[in-house]
Amino acid sequence: MMRKDSFRHIGMRTRLVEELRRKRITDERVLEAIGRVPRHLFLESSFIKFAYQDKAFPIGAGQTISQPYTVALQSQLLEVKAGEKILEVGTGSGYQAAVLIEMGVKLFSIERQGELYQRSVRLLRELGYQGRFYLGDGYEGLAAQAPFDKIIITAGAPVIPRNLLMQLKVGGMMVIPFGDKKQVLMRIIRINEDEFEQEEIEECAFVPMLNGVVGK
Ligand code: SAH
Repeated sequence: MMRKDSFRHIGMRTRLVEELRRKRITDERVLEAIGRVPRHLFLESSFIKFAYQDKAFPIGAGQTISQPYTVALQSQLLEVKAGEKILEVGTGSGYQAAVLIEMGVKLFSIERQGELYQRSVRLLRELGYQGRFYLGDGYEGLAAQAPFDKIIITAGAPVIPRNLLMQLKVGGMMVIPFGDKKQVLMRIIRINEDEFEQEEIEECAFVPMLNGVVGK
């Protein structure tokens, strides 16, 4: 497989970044990271020419790579700072993971589908993205690695997983698409041991967060 970046792709990314700016993504570190990650390598080759359109695309196993706007918005809402410990649920293509790693975080990411997990971990390693990747059920989180500064859920969650809230540091925050068929993107902040504050951001549509692990 050809894994190359080129001036043409860099030019297309620059235009994507401008488009995201027009859509009110203002966090420069997010925009810089999106400007650096070769998104075309995270799509199947038949979709490569669409890689820098602001659209979601299928990545196999019935899953999708999130739309760049969504990746940018979730990353911006997280108010990411270099060095933070972040848990991602739903590695999927690995693209959101790559954007966060570009921003200098310590990333932990969980995927439930074996096939995607294997493929994405291999690609991320080939591209030099350092993170800790787990095949597992995101509903459980990663108790052994907790607490996290931030948690990002990239699948639509019909309930807000309590396990995950408990794995947040006090002062930490979670960004989660909450709901069944259609979701509302929510940001939840742990204000102390027992209290959380939540804010609704906007409507969104993610593939569902499901239980259990499939494949290996
Ligand atoms: N962040 C991804 C988005 C992938 S779509 C990207 O940048 O491409 C959502 C992903 O969440 C899918 O790969 C799906 O398999 C995964 N997923 C759904 N429920 C899950 C769960 N309980 N634990 C871990 N991953 C889950």
